[in-house]
Amino acid sequence: MTTRTRHSQSTPVTGCAIPINLETNPDANAFNTSQKISIQSGILRLTRSEADVATIVGHELAHSTMRHFEKKDINGYIGAFGGVMIDGGFLLGGISTGGAFTGYLQTAGMMAYSVAFEMEADYVGAYYAARAGYDIAGAEEVLAANVA
Ligand SMILES: [Zn+2]
Repeated sequence: MTTRTRHSQSTPVTGCAIPINLETNPDANAFNTSQKISIQSGILRLTRSEADVATIVGHELAHSTMRHFEKKDINGYIGAFGGVMIDGGFLLGGISTGGAFTGYLQTAGMMAYSVAFEMEADYVGAYYAARAGYDIAGAEEVLAANVA
């Protein structure tokens, strides 16, 4: 087995308000915490080109620009409100649910659109990469890997 090492050097340019960090980590993952975007170096094994990396960064950036974090919280509040109403209804009937419906529906509300958010981030992120001048053909294979 031959191990190849690639070296590159870049000069950071401030282009948006969210920091993008390349972390030395063998895991093939990328994610956005709403405070920063982290690209773990292991994901570079799955990329074929700079365009693939641009598509990954675009996907993570799209989670912020499309306000997915705020929408997820709102969905959780709506779910929790529904749960409070159900738990309250049982309590009026003399049955304590221990807040089970509140917790369950809050989690369900927060998860309700996660697949839709990922699909939207794929689409918007690919758009960002394409608008930046990258040929994104085939990038969907990289996104399907481990981009959260
Ligand atoms: Zn994502």
